[in-house]
Amino acid sequence: MSVLALSGGVGGAKLVRGLSHQLPAESLSIIANTGDDGIHSGLLVCPDIDTLIYTLSGQSHPEQGWGLAGESWQVFDRLGELGGETWFRLGDKDIATHLFRAEKIQQGLSLTQVTRALCLAHNIAPNILPMCDELFQTKVITQDGRTLDFHEYFVKEQCGPRVESIAFIGNPSLSSDVEAAIMQTGALIICPSNPFLSIDPILQVPGLQSLITERIEKRLVVSPIINGQAIKGPTAKLMQELALPVTNESVAKKYQSIATHMIIDNQDAVDKNLLESMGLKVLVTNTLMQTLADKKQLASDVLGFLGVK
Ligand code: GDP
Repeated sequence: MSVLALSGGVGGAKLVRGLSHQLPAESLSIIANTGDDGIHSGLLVCPDIDTLIYTLSGQSHPEQGWGLAGESWQVFDRLGELGGETWFRLGDKDIATHLFRAEKIQQGLSLTQVTRALCLAHNIAPNILPMCDELFQTKVITQDGRTLDFHEYFVKEQCGPRVESIAFIGNPSLSSDVEAAIMQTGALIICPSNPFLSIDPILQVPGLQSLITERIEKRLVVSPIINGQAIKGPTAKLMQELALPVTNESVAKKYQSIATHMIIDNQDAVDKNLLESMGLKVLVTNTLMQTLADKKQLASDVLGFLGVK
């Protein structure tokens, strides 16, 4: 049986890496969030696609949360000397990825086709699909009344502003590749990614969520919250600002219209009954992925719970 994962950046990529060890490559497709995509220094930046590619090829930066290991920064240092805009930095090797993408897009390839070419160039077999080919951008509306591009919020302002709401701007359509992946899939896995900034943009692509719920019977979410906290990033802060308790119950409510199964961490075993009373099938296990062994184990638990392995 083939599985389809919905993923943002680091949290999602960790589980996807585990899944890639547990499944034959042709059985794993991933729909990546592209709501964070945008133009920086004239180049189209696709952070979550690149994090997935670098993680699956074992080249991701171990601590940074984006980019490649062993980077140098000569291009952006020079750009700074020239007075260029450098708050959004790309490492020298990472720039090669962006030039590769820019050239192919200029030649008329879609983002889906370029992503496939990048996967081949990195020797990655699982099928990584952008959620759509069009720019469909996440905007953050702050409590002080500003509308920020995602990276102004995330990188320039370091997630500092209090968030009022989130909007998605663009006219995306369901790509034939995403549609085919959903049609061929036996089970859905929503990775432990930010539900509001990484998974919501994917589910906002018109027709995507309804096709998933029509076609895929088992739909599992791995909670990104452990013991009332996020492992990294702004998920917990954002939930507080949106007046949501930082709990598995809030995550379950957020995914109420899509999830049938939920995996929560051992530290939250006490939540199992409540989540089951909400109609979910619940598995309690270790969901903190610190080592490759953790990633493989969680992937194995996910697949076992879905009856895939
Ligand atoms: P980003 O795009 O780099 O912010 O990454 P994601 O959206 O994929 O993931 C961010 C979310 O993943 C945060 O809410 C984290 O709590 C969650 N996360 C990261 N690592 C882990 C982990 O090992 N286990 C679990 N359960 N959640 C994680």
